[in-house]
Amino acid sequence: MTAIESLYQHYLKHPVICTDTRNITPGCLFFALRGDNFDANTFAEKALTNGAAYAIIDNLAYKTSKQCILVPDVLSTLQDLAKHHRAQLNIPVIGLTGSNGKTTTKELIKAVLSEKYKTFATKGNLNNHIGVPLSILSLTNDTEIAVIEMGANHQKEIEFLCTIAKPTHGLITNVGMAHLDGFGGFEGVKKGKAELYAYLKNNHGIAFINRNNPYLMEMNAAANLDKVVYFGTEATDVISGKLVKTDPLIEISWSDKTGSYETSVNLTGSYNFENILAAICIGAFFDVTPEQINKGLSGYFPNNNRSQITKTENNTVICDFYNANPSSMTAALNNISLLSASQKAVIIGDMFELGDESAEQHDLIAKQAEQLNVKTLVFIGKYFYTLKDKYKGNFFSTPSEAHEFLKENPIKDNMVLLKGSRGMALEQLLPLL
Ligand code: ATP
Ligand code: MG
Repeated sequence: MTAIESLYQHYLKHPVICTDTRNITPGCLFFALRGDNFDANTFAEKALTNGAAYAIIDNLAYKTSKQCILVPDVLSTLQDLAKHHRAQLNIPVIGLTGSNGKTTTKELIKAVLSEKYKTFATKGNLNNHIGVPLSILSLTNDTEIAVIEMGANHQKEIEFLCTIAKPTHGLITNVGMAHLDGFGGFEGVKKGKAELYAYLKNNHGIAFINRNNPYLMEMNAAANLDKVVYFGTEATDVISGKLVKTDPLIEISWSDKTGSYETSVNLTGSYNFENILAAICIGAFFDVTPEQINKGLSGYFPNNNRSQITKTENNTVICDFYNANPSSMTAALNNISLLSASQKAVIIGDMFELGDESAEQHDLIAKQAEQLNVKTLVFIGKYFYTLKDKYKGNFFSTPSEAHEFLKENPIKDNMVLLKGSRGMALEQLLPLL
């Protein structure tokens, strides 16, 4: 028996994995991962005291009992265990990547598929080299279908995550201006995301592709995919749809070969149209009925600060502050420009991880925001702050300075867009809105 096979026997008896001693559940397997600022080997004993069945460690100095399993490297052991587990499961796994909209689309796909199947979907945003193995290790014998979000900020990452998740089906939501520094510009983003198509091609998988997206179609042609299900806006697409309304919530009409349907979704932003259509396409492919698809979609309520409409005492706020990059920022600004609200406010924060293109991208976004001519325009962060003499608006280098401004200049009866990169933590301004 190999070391992984032997560890797998422990996993079968203790199928809950923990990596944080603050969240130990009795009888779990504790994986002592190393981070930039910590080495969880030092917490192994605490994990065992708190009830973990075994602690997987890679530093002999912390092997204090028989319950400590020493491995050469905890992270690669976690990944190998996930690969081994995945190989035992004969179920469809839908791998999902893209620059924007992964988590939203994943939640929509889950809402649709759950109408018919016991569906697992990545929890929250656990989409990296640790999150993907943890997601795979959450699959049980009961799971009938899985939706796995895969994030990347450099080349070969999706390729690697595919070796763990082994997707039988895949979706790239889109390719855009995100993580430009790690990928090496937009062409690099396309190359990195196309690794999912390459995996599907080499493993006889099926890709769901938005035919309206020229970049995805280019990547599709380059990968020479042979099994593709298209969605889009043309009647020739397997699932075709039309955006009916987004003011502020979305209504769409869609058709398959059996008929035409309408559905509403509790999300704002026309950019979500393609996310919704992807979920419909995947649901229909797996024989979820149109009625079930619509029920799943309209029953989805975002609570993750992505494209989420929140009514506060004073305003209607588009809570989109989970994250931002130039593509999603442009989409969000376009969206608010199209809404019919009579008074609008835009509060946007810096976008991170843009490398050399940072100054130019912030300039483009500030220009676009200024052109919206909204009543209140607030820019927050050190990148936007450099543009304070170039564009109209209120510029602050930190959220706390903006906090003071909003306290002194309260916004009332507005449709407010609140959006910035995660590190800007713009949620701290929500209580003022
Ligand atoms: P992350 O890289 O953080 O995992 P993600 O790809 O999972 O992000 P979401 O969290 O679903 O994406 O959405 C983040 C933001 O991207 C949304 O709040 C919205 O502003 C924007 N967005 C969502 N879908 C699209 C889309 N199809 N096109 C452009 N922007 C989008
Ligand atoms: Mg995500």
